[in-house]
Amino acid sequence: MSTLTPILSANWDRSDSFTLESYRSTGGYQALRKAVAMEPGALVDLVKASGLRGRGGAGFPTGMKWGFLPKDNPNPRYLVVNADESEPGTCKDIPLMLANPHALIEGVAISAYAINCSQAFIYVRGEVLHVIRRLRHAVAEAYEAGLLGKGILGTAFDLEVVVHSGAGAYICGEETALLDSLEGYRGQPRLKPPFPAVAGLYASPTVVNNVESIASVPSIVDNGADWFTSMGTEKSAGFGFFSLSGHVTRPGQYEAPLGITLRELLDMAGGIRTGHALKFWTPGGSSTPIFTDEHLDTPLDFESVGAAGSMLGTRALQIFDETTCVVRAVGRWIAFYAHESCGKCTPCREGNFWMVQVLDRLENGEGTEADLDKLLDICDNLLGRSFCALGDGAASPVMSSIKYFRQEYIDHVEQGGCPFDHAKSTVWG
Ligand code: NAD
Ligand code: SF4
Repeated sequence: MSTLTPILSANWDRSDSFTLESYRSTGGYQALRKAVAMEPGALVDLVKASGLRGRGGAGFPTGMKWGFLPKDNPNPRYLVVNADESEPGTCKDIPLMLANPHALIEGVAISAYAINCSQAFIYVRGEVLHVIRRLRHAVAEAYEAGLLGKGILGTAFDLEVVVHSGAGAYICGEETALLDSLEGYRGQPRLKPPFPAVAGLYASPTVVNNVESIASVPSIVDNGADWFTSMGTEKSAGFGFFSLSGHVTRPGQYEAPLGITLRELLDMAGGIRTGHALKFWTPGGSSTPIFTDEHLDTPLDFESVGAAGSMLGTRALQIFDETTCVVRAVGRWIAFYAHESCGKCTPCREGNFWMVQVLDRLENGEGTEADLDKLLDICDNLLGRSFCALGDGAASPVMSSIKYFRQEYIDHVEQGGCPFDHAKSTVWG
């Protein structure tokens, strides 16, 4: 039986948890002091040994990414924190930055030192002005205290940190679109390779990491790689936020070891809302194939979720009970992807547009059984044929919902429209 591991969220119940004083009173910035006394390469080795994998969704090993920076490139190196959290259901970085901004700033300072970088950017989703204000205030506190800027903690290490506001485009969370946006261009994904580690911001070597990944670094420096690997599974080490939303009694952030199951999380969250039963859920946001009650005991680590046919993604567990129409839910997600598609490549631009038409038609009682094949055909043209992960992601809920709930789609055709009373499913209203 797994239990919670409140590490980044340990002090969230303190009303002043976001202040420098409060962060320092619980040991904050001790890891930075320890880090700047180490060789940068030793820090990269420590993060590699910890097995920390990117918490933004893809799970790429963080230390390995840092190790990809070319040694012979004379250009400056950049660290860019991807704080453009926008995947439907994903809501962990925003509370983390609000309640514990200094964990991120300390992580930025340590990570920048480890990769020999003196300029970092935190690219924050434009809609969350309150988060941007809080981060800017925390960065100013850190400058004032000599934790950022010139000669950090009396050493020769200099670091400038800029908090940059995005302009409200989901695609700017894709790391290369984010870099274009940061350079002042319209945010559209770039061809990879080259990966940002080789040619990123201003064509210079750049590490792009998620907020939670970077905020986890101080705890690894404080406690060591063995401490981190003692949590989670062999290949998915450590802890992370599991964000429970939807038809659950106590929705919220549950910080727990990777490998915990939905059943265990639901036990802690008071279960599905009273009188109802689990129908389907997303393990990692709406771009990951949906799961059903068959998957209650699937360990939520990268390997196990993958073996069960989905992806761990952002650990955004959107939970739906039997009152929710899966066709409607998928339709809402695809409308989002169609709206947010940057339009650069045809499969995603056109495919999402057409999927919205077909899903609406089914909901409105104008669909036919042939529409299921049409949807799967569009998905076939999206998967692996889109320029970036948005296209692949949009195919996931459509394909998986037809796999698990084919009959529900057919019911829409046979009953001349949606058989659900949407008022009963408070999630979709
Ligand atoms: P990806 O697998 O292409 O890359 C992951 C990271 O590893 C990137 O930083 C990339 O540069 C790096 N990388 C991969 N191979 C590399 C190599 N050979 N050399 C150097 N670096 C390398 O995934 P992605 O397209 O960046 O991200 C997709 C994920 O994003 C999805 O799984 C989804 O869960 C997640 N996502 C998250 C949000 C959110 O709001 N947090 C939104 C949308 C999608
Ligand atoms: Fe743009 Fe969609 Fe193509 Fe990505 S897959 S580049 S979002 S059109």
